[in-house]
Amino acid sequence: MGLFDKVNQVSRSMTENSKSAAETSNLKKKIAYEKERIQEVLTEIGKLFYENQNGDHKAELELCADIDDRRRRIASMQGDLSSLKGIRICGQCGARFDDKYTFGFCGNCGAKLNRAE
Ligand SMILES: [Zn+2]
Repeated sequence: MGLFDKVNQVSRSMTENSKSAAETSNLKKKIAYEKERIQEVLTEIGKLFYENQNGDHKAELELCADIDDRRRRIASMQGDLSSLKGIRICGQCGARFDDKYTFGFCGNCGAKLNRAE
């Protein structure tokens, strides 16, 4: 194995660790955004309903479906989020370990593991 490969390995392992942190904050941002949008859509539904009380409420129902979509997205992102929580990812082989796994080396490939922050 050449020096270049070793350097590559080290930078890959650092990338994996910050990747999990970046993914977590990215997911949190997306969830917050969807929640905000749901509030806005709810306001819009109320306004449409008020302005068109005797209408067929088609537009409102479409917006209700939009909220359902967003809620599904949030639920799936929350699932992703909890799967990232308390997880250490081996930068070498991608194996995932519970945070309670305190060994300094990957149990799968033996690579050095950094503490997940
Ligand atoms: Zn490994």
